[in-house]
Amino acid sequence: MKTFPLSKTELDKIIEKYPTPFYLYDESGIRENVRRINKAFSLFPMYKEHFAVKALPNPAILRILADEGCGADCASLTELLLADMAGIKGEDVMFSSNETPAKEYRKAVELGAVVNLDDFSHIEFLEKACGKIPEIVSCRYNPGSLKTGNAIIGKPEEAKYGFTRPQIIEGFALLREKGAKRFALHTMVASNELNVDYHIETARMLFELAVEIKERVGVHLEFVNLGGGVGIPYKPEDRAVDYEALAGGIKKAYDETAVPAGLGVRTEWGRAVTGPFGWLAARALHRKSVYREYVGLDACMADLMRPGLYGAYHRITVMGKEDAPLTETYDVVGGLCENNDKFAIQRKLPKIDAGENGDVVVIHDAGAHGRAMGFNYNGKLRCGELLLKPDGSVVQIRRPETVEDYFATLQASSV
Ligand SMILES: *Cc1c(COP(=O)(O)O)cnc(C)c1O
Repeated sequence: MKTFPLSKTELDKIIEKYPTPFYLYDESGIRENVRRINKAFSLFPMYKEHFAVKALPNPAILRILADEGCGADCASLTELLLADMAGIKGEDVMFSSNETPAKEYRKAVELGAVVNLDDFSHIEFLEKACGKIPEIVSCRYNPGSLKTGNAIIGKPEEAKYGFTRPQIIEGFALLREKGAKRFALHTMVASNELNVDYHIETARMLFELAVEIKERVGVHLEFVNLGGGVGIPYKPEDRAVDYEALAGGIKKAYDETAVPAGLGVRTEWGRAVTGPFGWLAARALHRKSVYREYVGLDACMADLMRPGLYGAYHRITVMGKEDAPLTETYDVVGGLCENNDKFAIQRKLPKIDAGENGDVVVIHDAGAHGRAMGFNYNGKLRCGELLLKPDGSVVQIRRPETVEDYFATLQASSV
């Protein structure tokens, strides 16, 4: 389990320059993690991790990932532009979008990204949008009842994504007829799944489908993309995924399925790449004693909505009180006029001192789907992002939002 990389004194010094709340990301941690992933998956031809940009859409982070050999997985025009800004080009970008506007397909094709279609009807939509079918096309498979889902993404047959099995067979035949020359297959059936066997079985399912597509349609796939969904240990009792066991298990399924020669394997993980290496630092402003004990932070659900949205668990530690006894039970809350704006409910914590110079708390495993999911409800301005460099220095890679940012989208004449 990842611990916060700074001491209280070091963090206090950073706070003098950058007031709370803010996100802090650990560059060394991210780099070492990606190296471990790349090493474990070097068993496969053409392996590439296409980082899911939505998890942490900051070009400074994307540049670090690109430097470690990652590509990008994008789902919108803005994400395509972010990947481009970070120097991630051409087929290093997968465009795994859904409900996609024509102009976004055009931009993806113009950038040379691999378009990953979400539905049979999108073959014609893409052809119309671009004037022709691109040379390389990927299709997203939804196994329906052939695969059980998990809590965040739900059951595959209830999920809006992907082609059914008959549709995907027919889809590849149609794509070839329309001039596509190179093909790939994709799926994404779970989110935050720590069970290695679940991911291995997903891979086996794709390998078997690749064989079937080859036999029935004669279409040779260049690679399969196993999607994202690899979990991280948010809870103290969770166990981190063993990358070697995961890649080894997938390799066994690969060999047992006798996949078409040279079939490449790719992933588009988000959470597992940056999740454990980001923290939200916030100050305890208020302590309130009513029917329960509350600690009110200067961060709120607008900065990190996973707990409010999914009831997600995030570890919380109090700077300087890491080893103090957990004598109190608090709801740790933000300032939205929404009672689900709670970072933790009935959590055992050390005694917290509140106020303008109150304790600083650190919310762990916030490096993916954290700042990125934020919003502006209640006129709350989202916090900034800092990067802890390998030499120990800290740079701001996104400033906090200002009132001017909030007002920028309002037409002058209407105000
Ligand atoms: C969200 C998403 C990912 C990344 O998911 P993680 O759970 O962060 O690994 C990858 N691919 C697609 C299509 C996604 O929607």
